[in-house]
Amino acid sequence: MKHATNASVMRTSNRKLILNLIRQNPVSRVELAEQTNLTRASVTQIIDELLDAGLVEAISTLEHGGLGRKRTLLALCHNARYVFGVNIRRRHCEVGVIDLYGEVLSQRILDVSGRTADDVIRQIADTILITKKELHLDDERILGIGISAPGPVDYKKGILLNPPNFAEWHNLPVGSLLSDLTGLETSLEKDTNSRALEEKYFGAARTISNFMLVQIDDGVGSGVIIRDRLYRGAHGMGTEIGHTSICYDGPMCSCGNRGCLETYLRIPALLKNTRFHSWNDLAHADLEMQAKDAGAIIDRAAEYLSAALVSAVNLYDLEKIILTGDIASCPSPLTERLNETIRQRVLNRSSLQDIPVIDSCSIAPVRTGAMAVLHEMFQD
Ligand SMILES: [Zn+2]
Repeated sequence: MKHATNASVMRTSNRKLILNLIRQNPVSRVELAEQTNLTRASVTQIIDELLDAGLVEAISTLEHGGLGRKRTLLALCHNARYVFGVNIRRRHCEVGVIDLYGEVLSQRILDVSGRTADDVIRQIADTILITKKELHLDDERILGIGISAPGPVDYKKGILLNPPNFAEWHNLPVGSLLSDLTGLETSLEKDTNSRALEEKYFGAARTISNFMLVQIDDGVGSGVIIRDRLYRGAHGMGTEIGHTSICYDGPMCSCGNRGCLETYLRIPALLKNTRFHSWNDLAHADLEMQAKDAGAIIDRAAEYLSAALVSAVNLYDLEKIILTGDIASCPSPLTERLNETIRQRVLNRSSLQDIPVIDSCSIAPVRTGAMAVLHEMFQD
């Protein structure tokens, strides 16, 4: 391991458990023992190590609005560690760095389309090394480089497998390439899994334990969090709602299945033979009185999507669904229709108050990239 200090600090599950609680709110040692079921002695030992490593700090507060006795709480140090984030997309990628609270300290956008993958990887590495120098970041304070990319990916080996419309990058060991060029450790995650983690840590799902994030743009992807943890399934692929069928004898999809949601719902399919060039065009047209055609497309999108989402809710017993991607630029008529339909069609109507479908409010592409590494600091 290149960074023994970081690795040893994150060594055990108990440390991660405690760090994850401290990350969410300043908390006392007694509360940590209660919430983790660890002994006071174990908590004290772990806290002492975290204080020594400079990861947490003790802060004093007064109870009862300043009238009570003094309490010592533990909080995460903002600038204790940093994580580089690389968010690879088909047309461009973002490269930058965040702190432990997810604040973006730096972000640069690089062109991807029309260039070789090797060329882009080299530029990403150069950008990381330049940023590191500009911000005076020591290796000891850098946890690594988190990478998010279109799936499918082999997250264990750091390899992009065969994402559609991205042939130049197929079977590319992006993790080891970037590691060799920068000397930093890397961790790769499918983009929609990283987005789901970002919502869980910093976004609309901080207090939600079971949800699905659905990303709709040129494709349709998903990431699922179950009981506060990323759901990866047996082979690490996680969920692919875009390739669940909403019509058993529908058109053949490139994946080999018939009637996949993605073949109907990807934005280019929704806008085919219409006057709209992008979802943004449609979103603005919808504000005009005559935009009946825009309304009809939104209705169609809601029908396709609700067919899949009702199944997802029935399968996973979800609390919330978060929409992201280009389609989130026109969320409200779509989410209203989805909420109506889901409420009418899910099986478990009696105990469910609501399964709100909401639009994402927390996209920061560099942070999305960094989640693959940041997540490892707080969870096994
Ligand atoms: Zn498919």
